[in-house]
Amino acid sequence: MSTREDALKKIIAHAKEYGFIFPSSEIYDGLAATYDYGQNGVLLKNKIKEYWWRSMTQLHSNIVGIDAAIFMHPTTWKASGHVDAFNDPLIDNKDSKKRYRADVLIEEHCAKIEQKINKEVDKAAKRFGDSFDREMYLQTNPRVVNYQQEIESIQQRLAKSLTNSDLADVKSLIEELGIVCPVSGSRNWTEVRQFNLMFSTKLGAAAENATDLYLRPETAQGIFVNFLNVQRSGRMKIPFGIAQIGKAFRNEIIARQFIFRMREFEQMEMQYFVAPGTEMQHYETWKQLRLNWHLALGITEDNYRFHDHDNLAHYANAAADIEFQFPFGFKELEGIHSRTDFDLKSHQEHSGKKIQYFDAEQNQSYVPYVVETSIGLDRMFLAILSTAYTEETLEDNSTRVVLKLPAPLAPIQCAVLPLVRKDGLPELAESIIKDLRLDYQVEYDEKDSIGKRYRRQDAIGTPVCVTVDHDSLQDRQVTVRFRDSMEQRRVSIDSLADILQQEVSMKSLLKKLTQATNSL
Ligand code: ATP
Repeated sequence: MSTREDALKKIIAHAKEYGFIFPSSEIYDGLAATYDYGQNGVLLKNKIKEYWWRSMTQLHSNIVGIDAAIFMHPTTWKASGHVDAFNDPLIDNKDSKKRYRADVLIEEHCAKIEQKINKEVDKAAKRFGDSFDREMYLQTNPRVVNYQQEIESIQQRLAKSLTNSDLADVKSLIEELGIVCPVSGSRNWTEVRQFNLMFSTKLGAAAENATDLYLRPETAQGIFVNFLNVQRSGRMKIPFGIAQIGKAFRNEIIARQFIFRMREFEQMEMQYFVAPGTEMQHYETWKQLRLNWHLALGITEDNYRFHDHDNLAHYANAAADIEFQFPFGFKELEGIHSRTDFDLKSHQEHSGKKIQYFDAEQNQSYVPYVVETSIGLDRMFLAILSTAYTEETLEDNSTRVVLKLPAPLAPIQCAVLPLVRKDGLPELAESIIKDLRLDYQVEYDEKDSIGKRYRRQDAIGTPVCVTVDHDSLQDRQVTVRFRDSMEQRRVSIDSLADILQQEVSMKSLLKKLTQATNSL
């Protein structure tokens, strides 16, 4: 097993053992690509949502939120293009009977070539030592340049055949590249076919009157159909945005890599309505703003990269992904799309209702253009969890597993621990919690030695532990212990609120984000 697969396995096991993520309906052996969030998972997930929601709606006076229904009128999906075009190219291996996404097989082939580049770079870096110039090497080493050209030409060919719906060429490409089935090892492939990813269901009890419905495959359409409602009731002036967090459903052909690709997942999307012709400028700004949002969490920049789309969706005139370095390599975490006026125009045509905005400055009406930012909440959860998971060897040679989560997102922000279970220490601990829990998720733990209790809190990522001992009864001081440094400090009980405010509050994170944005 590669170290990367090993890392993912450890994260999955840890997530289950510590109440973050369980396989769905596990007592019935689970359901493919569906997961349940446990007691700590739901807290972390809610914190990610809060960070996204407040940074969008509270920190931007021109962005408001909505919460639309999952069920929508079926014509919505005709207008959006999903009925006709929300397909993935599918291919089966005749020997293993396994099903794959044809484009993913090709992308994985490219990822292997990329690994070869990385190996060359690592080797060269060792050889040249401090004088190594990575950029220069990438641009001039003939073998690396060849690999890069190979990747580019494969990606361009794939993009072209997908754009032209030339599925026969996608199959030819798979054959020419000699891609084999990871299970059977054979090249015995079926033709490539299109597969619609929407789940359908029925509304109404009587079969003859029932209406065919779809479970929404993206939250964006709930925003588009409410454009006029929000614009008028909120007297919104362009440019303005509408944000939403909610469930989306896709019947993914292959769903693996844990919560990276699920059939039921959550999206955090924001549609920004702008005047036609200004969309590229807003698109560039949102790319930067979104990257900033990620970086404010303290996850280092080398974990992120932009990837501009070659194969644009039917609605877009520009699109980029923010890719993240997951345990299985760089993959899409978030999309920033310039969606033109495609959606609003199409809803206007299908509904027969005029969906336009009167721009008082320009003294004319138009269908606004849209720049969208769309991030998968579950993918963000995995990004955070996988970078946080750390195994450390301590000075005494023991190991500790610690989740170095961004402190304001930790499920439990503070644990209060009485040194012993008697002599009035539990009562003092409880009285401290009573104050702190008005602002924070605080946990009380009195079982086992203090060392073991610290380890338990490390394993769920609690940034601050407060230990109450006998002296605390007299001097009203406690020991504060910090997760990452394991530094311990004696402080007064009265100063705890300030310490938490500084170290773990959502406000501290939003402040950091604001400062980074202001300095743009
Ligand atoms: P992919 O190419 O990985 O299938 P996509 O390009 O279809 O993703 P979008 O339609 O742009 O994804 O959706 C926006 C975001 O929603 C993605 O960036 C991702 O974070 C999230 N997302 C999409 N599909 C899934 C899924 N099956 N499970 C979890 N998150 C998803």
